[in-house]
Parts: sequence; C-alpha cells; structure tokens
Amino acid sequence: MKNDCIFCAIAAGEIPSFKVYEDDLVLAYLDINPFAKGHTLVIPKGHAANLIEADDATLAELIVRVKKIAAHIKAKLGCDGFNILQNNGEAAGQTVRHIHFHIVPRWSGDPLAFENSKGDMKALEALAAELRM
Ligand code: AMP
Ligand code: ZN
Repeated sequence: MKNDCIFCAIAAGEIPSFKVYEDDLVLAYLDINPFAKGHTLVIPKGHAANLIEADDATLAELIVRVKKIAAHIKAKLGCDGFNILQNNGEAAGQTVRHIHFHIVPRWSGDPLAFENSKGDMKALEALAAELRM
C-alpha cells in the first residue's frame, strides 16, 4: 500500500467505494464521476502506478477480471457494448497514479464523449447494489 494513494486507501477499505466486485487480488467499484451509467473502475489491490510498472502476473489476472466484470455489467445493464480505457501518464489523462481499467458501458447511438459527469451518490449506491457480483 502506498501512502497518499487514494486507490490504495479504497482497496484497504479506508475510503468507501461503491463496490461491484472484490476478490483477493482485485477490486472493482463505480466511478464517482461517470462517463456513462455503470462506469466501473477495476484495480489491483497492490499498488502499481501504471501499465508499465505493474507486474506481468498481476496484469494477466487483472484483464481476466476486467472481462468477467464487463460481461456481468453488460448483461445486467443491457448495454450494447462497452469501452475499456486505461490511461498512462498525465499526458494521456491519467489523474490517479494507481493502475486502473475503466469499463464504460455504451448504447447504440449514444454520443461518444469520455467526459466525467458529476455523480449522484444515492443513484451510485443503488446502482452498485444492483450490479454487485
Ligand atoms: P484516470 O483519468 O484514468 O486516472 O481516471 C481516474 C478516475 O477515477 C476518474 O474517472 C475519476 O472520476 C475516478 N475517481 C477518482 N476518485 C474516485 C473515488 N474516490 N471513487 C471512485 N472513482 C474515483
Ligand atoms: Zn495505490
């Protein structure tokens, strides 16, 4: 766990999150400022800043969890597709320096705008309960 890392603090349960999935290695929770309904972040519990710093074994496990969680969200929400995003470095829009995959549900014809919206905490809480695996 890295001091001053907000996603490490979430993984440790020190900061609350709208949890969707958890196992020994991985935690998934709703993005509090979502691009779309069901926008979920998947992180390894152990700290690594980005894709390059993450170890291969963790990455291999992580992407399989991303697949499983995305399939579950797609089935639950009935979205038509989803984007997987993973930003590395400030120049690429990374704001939290703990590796995470974004799962962004998409509906046919929705506007392609990867922009944060202000999350409604009550709605996020209800949605997390609906999506929890
Ligand atoms: P990135 O730009 O790839 O670093 O994405 C970071 C994402 O984390 C943004 O979409 C934020 O809305 C989201 N985020 C930041 N703090 C939290 C938090 N405490 N809980 C859930 N999502 C968060
Ligand atoms: Zn961290």
